Amino acid sequence: NLSDKLDKAFHILKGHGKITEVNVAETLKEVRRALLDADVNFKIAKDFTTKVKEKAIGQNVLTTLQPGQLLVKLVKDELTELMGGDVAGINLSGNPTVILMSGLQGSGKTTFSGKLANYLQTKKGKKPLLVACDIYRPAAIQQLYVVGDSMAVEVYSEPENKNPVEIAQNAIKHAKANGFNVVIVDTAGRLAVDEAMMTEISNVHKAIQPQETLFVVDAMTGQDAVNTAKAFNDILNFDGVVLTKLDGDTRGGAAISIKSVVNKPIKFVGTGEKMDAIDVFYPERMAERILGMGDVVSLVEKAQEHYDEEEARKIQKKIAKNEFGFDDFLSQIQQVKKMGNMKDLVGMIPGASKAMKDVEIEDDAFKHIEAIIHSMTPKERSKPAIIDVKRKARIAKGSGTKVEQVNQLMKQFEQMSKMMKMMQGPGGKNMMKMMGN
Ligand code: GDP
Ligand code: MG
Repeated sequence: NLSDKLDKAFHILKGHGKITEVNVAETLKEVRRALLDADVNFKIAKDFTTKVKEKAIGQNVLTTLQPGQLLVKLVKDELTELMGGDVAGINLSGNPTVILMSGLQGSGKTTFSGKLANYLQTKKGKKPLLVACDIYRPAAIQQLYVVGDSMAVEVYSEPENKNPVEIAQNAIKHAKANGFNVVIVDTAGRLAVDEAMMTEISNVHKAIQPQETLFVVDAMTGQDAVNTAKAFNDILNFDGVVLTKLDGDTRGGAAISIKSVVNKPIKFVGTGEKMDAIDVFYPERMAERILGMGDVVSLVEKAQEHYDEEEARKIQKKIAKNEFGFDDFLSQIQQVKKMGNMKDLVGMIPGASKAMKDVEIEDDAFKHIEAIIHSMTPKERSKPAIIDVKRKARIAKGSGTKVEQVNQLMKQFEQMSKMMKMMQGPGGKNMMKMMGN
């Protein structure tokens, strides 16, 4: 499935410490292949990887602390965007709110009608009425009664009436007279798109002018789902999509294509046969599901921890051997600067991005320090003790700073080295954190 394929793709990134432009390109090719295999339209998949690549180049992915993680995030963000970005709410205006279900037979309309009634009743405090407009099979009306009874939601039907338009109109009258504030109209579908079905649903749609027309589609039907969506959208110009049967192994490649082709938001997903198996559609969560990334945040945290430990161990060794020099200092500074990307990473945690908005990581906080160190010779960097007055003057000139600034840095460095030596051992890791401040 798509997840496995992407896993393989990302494995290339995770496995290597170093990431080159070549394997970024290779990975994105793999991502594209995975999308194609999941029934995503060719052009959509191609545009997708092109966009991610551009962003990766724009953000200098290769020079960041965790290029693999950042690329994963870019892919996830782009997928999220592709599926609509934000959560699309349901329009509950109108008194009563009229919601019309459309879709092929077996897509899950009747089941979803029940789920939606349940959701609106228990989560939104609404009083819904279910309407049986599937006039072709007596069993269909019966099915809606079973669903309604299980949640104490009233069902409206006219078993003798063969005109779905009339039934729907009468149901709305009944709702107004009896204090129902939501009317959910379940309709008949055929096994494939045909004119009779389209004419019927179109007539009902025109007659009752629903606030929400939802197109219900079985997520497992792949590319067919896209064609069906297009056919229904051409006739109904529906407001949103319901993706059913997203339980089990279905990866939801259809979600990507449908959104791209009809440009309508996916509003709900069905994840089982029970009445509470309904979820509001979160593009971001879906992107995670498609990528099979699981808990992205913990993944990132783990990577971060790993980095801290490795680096701390290396530095501790150097301190022990009296080998800590300006090069190490510089790389520490650079690591701290790269923490700027932490902001992006933190942005993945719901709610946290708001809190982080005011935290600015200054870009040029270390500019002078870096310039000074860059003006030192390799020997001076590894053995700072040899830096005498003459050398200081040269370094200051080379870095466009003043001798006092060089002196200050030397003093800071000396103090820090001393302190680090003192704090060696288990405290080393904390020390690294202090350096970050
Ligand atoms: P309709 O013909 O469009 O009204 O489709 P139904 O609501 O009758 O559903 C067809 C079949 O799909 C039924 O057996 C449902 O139990 C099943 N079904 C509907 N939604 C889901 C879902 O989200 N997950 C699973 N596993 N089955 C579903
Ligand atoms: Mg049905």
